[in-house]
Amino acid sequence: MAKITLNKNNFFNNLDIIAKATKSVDKIAMVLKDNAYGHGLVEMATMAKEYGVKKAVVQTETEAKNIEDFFDYILTLNSIPHDMSDKIRYTINDLNSIVKFPHCTKVELKVDTGMHRNGIAMSQIEEAFTKIKEQGLLLEGVFTHHRSADELSSEWFWQMDNFKKVKQEAQNLADKHGFGTLRFHSSNSAALFRNSDFDEDMARVGIAAYGCMNLPDAIKVEGLKPVLSLYANKISSRELTKGERVGYGGIFETDENCVVSNYDFGYGDGFLRVCSNNYTTPDAKQSVGRISMDNSSFICEDEEILIFDDAGEIAKVVKTISYEVLTSLKPSIRREIV
Ligand SMILES: *Cc1c(COP(=O)(O)O)cnc(C)c1O
Repeated sequence: MAKITLNKNNFFNNLDIIAKATKSVDKIAMVLKDNAYGHGLVEMATMAKEYGVKKAVVQTETEAKNIEDFFDYILTLNSIPHDMSDKIRYTINDLNSIVKFPHCTKVELKVDTGMHRNGIAMSQIEEAFTKIKEQGLLLEGVFTHHRSADELSSEWFWQMDNFKKVKQEAQNLADKHGFGTLRFHSSNSAALFRNSDFDEDMARVGIAAYGCMNLPDAIKVEGLKPVLSLYANKISSRELTKGERVGYGGIFETDENCVVSNYDFGYGDGFLRVCSNNYTTPDAKQSVGRISMDNSSFICEDEEILIFDDAGEIAKVVKTISYEVLTSLKPSIRREIV
């Protein structure tokens, strides 16, 4: 059976580096959406709690419910409450959605400072506060998201500047409406490390904690280590002679006699099919032929094969990002903390 191992030392090493940047473990909000970036929601929540992380960010209320016992605070990025609890906060992404939240829901308002994906416009803040008050919601925080924190450009500064204006206006309105002191946050992983003097209330950290952040050299963060490794097991082996072909379409032809084995990790498990015939493992085993749904072939005889231990490396080969490689991994794969 293919398996994922999660390296706790590496994860804690990454959290040490992150806590240094946030200046406090309490300001780390661990982003656990999409099955914790494919790592396993409950496994990562368990380790985060053990480290002392108290906050988490997910997409949905269902995810939040699964990890409720592990954290004091869980922010859902895109959910309408069905089963509210004291720990869960809900994001307002649009003015028109405010009426959908039940009375007394704890909410945070997302403001669009330039990404133009989710969140209300900066010009709608006053209207949003009025509607939130009318709906009887408990507004606790205001946040934004960066579109280019991981690129070497001035856009991060431009959005930070916009968010500064948002914070001022929002806190004034909060005082006026009696919402109290708001929680403000704008940083994902890349943005956190660009901020040499981080002073927000929390940072929403995903990819850095998983150790797969890929930034340009000028803003590179040293010392982060990938948490996840993927191993597959041999199903069968065969000796092939020079000139024989492997797999669907026979797209690989041997140029010498060799042993090709088939392993139990295919695109149905999350092995991106574009890696077919185009990927070499960290131990120099060559992928041959097309990756099929539950199988992939390598020139290798080993019982177990390390497919990758750094999602960033495999992402580079097929011109995608580590996020896609990781979130493609199916929840059904066995996870083991090592
Ligand atoms: C996914 C996400 C993050 C985490 O981003 P990373 O680059 O993985 O740190 C933070 N904030 C929001 C709103 C997100 O959707």
